Amino acid sequence: MQKIRIDMGASVDAMTFSSDRAAKYLSSISSRKVAPSNDAIGMLTKLHESLPDEPSDPLETIALLDEVGSPATMATAAGRFFGLVVGGSLPASLGARVLCAAWDQLVTTDKTSPIGFELEKISTRWVLDILNLPRACSVGFLSGSTMGNFMCIAAARHQLLERNGWDVERQGLFDAPKVHIVASEEIHVTVKKVLSMLGLGTDNIDYVKCDADGAMLINELPVLTSSSLVLTQAGNVNSGACDPIGEISDIANEVGAWVHVDGAFGLWAAASESKRHLLNGFNKASSWVTDGHKWLNTPYDCGIAICKYPLAVHAAMSTVAPYLIAGSDISPKDMVPELSRSARAAEVWAALRSLGRAGVEDLINRCCRYAEMMSVELDALGFTILNDVALNQVVATIAQQSDKIDLLVSHVNASGDAWFGPTHWRGQSAFRISFSSWVTTDNDVAITIASIKRAVQELGITLKPRS
Ligand SMILES: *Cc1c(COP(=O)(O)O)cnc(C)c1O
Repeated sequence: MQKIRIDMGASVDAMTFSSDRAAKYLSSISSRKVAPSNDAIGMLTKLHESLPDEPSDPLETIALLDEVGSPATMATAAGRFFGLVVGGSLPASLGARVLCAAWDQLVTTDKTSPIGFELEKISTRWVLDILNLPRACSVGFLSGSTMGNFMCIAAARHQLLERNGWDVERQGLFDAPKVHIVASEEIHVTVKKVLSMLGLGTDNIDYVKCDADGAMLINELPVLTSSSLVLTQAGNVNSGACDPIGEISDIANEVGAWVHVDGAFGLWAAASESKRHLLNGFNKASSWVTDGHKWLNTPYDCGIAICKYPLAVHAAMSTVAPYLIAGSDISPKDMVPELSRSARAAEVWAALRSLGRAGVEDLINRCCRYAEMMSVELDALGFTILNDVALNQVVATIAQQSDKIDLLVSHVNASGDAWFGPTHWRGQSAFRISFSSWVTTDNDVAITIASIKRAVQELGITLKPRS
């Protein structure tokens, strides 16, 4: 006996029903508290049922997810979530995601999804154009900057070892020649994780000292060789600082070393006339990583990995098996770690098409302006700003009372007015406010500042305001 409804009408109903619920969720998200209430979190126990024996109405499952799940979300889709350097989802990207969910496309080759493949090609062109990177680079769309770092560093590993007569994909790393790994002492944790995953390890890192803002000091760069891999970043996760990538690349390119740039959010400075100078010469590097889901405001999860040496990427990433249909062009599946993957480029395409060059630039500039506004206000209140607020990040502390940071952060977060996190910056306890969302407004910044002021009063923190 057939127990479930088997016709496309069931999917049509599910799509209509969930789109309607999703739209209601979004229409009230801005007036809601940013963090979910404890009650809402408590209600999650309702989901802990035992695995059902029998099928049920799909709409009933969606309704349960909405009723219990929606109140227990963090309101990252709205304008006052300032943690983790992540943005919301642009309307066009969100819509593209919904359509893609219905399409159910698998973008392994141009044969499995002509539209998914074409969107990758167009997005590739547009990403290289807006970031002004060499047009012959390969671009892979993957789950985030972690996997992007993985892809690029795997390609680097291939190229640096190949020139020493070693085929790492075939021979592995036992007995392999050494790769000289040079990294900023401020390198992101995911880059270290990637070094571990790729068998390169973290003990061998030749760390380069940074200035007070967290940018690599060029004079501290060790002697590079044709076996060196230099791991730089555009946009320190705390301060937003960018390494002197152009200068490092000039030195590296003389000897054939590989320079990789982790620009999970900061690479987008390249799309802004007034911020581009922070990345001076960055296009002379060998590989770059950025996220769609951070500053470009596509939905999760979407990372973008760019490489000047497509053949090295292919050597490190290709998957060949008799059952895998060969495409008539280079297959996406052979240029990223994942075999089965969604049509992520659709969301990048939709973001770039709907914003255009000017819209992306405005998004970047607006976020930077909010960071500037926030730092000026915090400074006036008597907080100490610890970073050079050149990008979208503000790192602040309370002089002589850094033990109050956690209290302050929890107080604001519990108020539901805004959400941001504590951090440690160059040996000091601090808090960090990141502006990365298209939907944040001047008013959201004002609400957040008012909430911080209130928390200071209610907690009896004494600041020395500037007169
Ligand atoms: C967020 C971030 C990453 C990791 O990116 P995911 O998309 O979360 O995998 C890497 N580097 C930096 C500088 C980041 O900010």
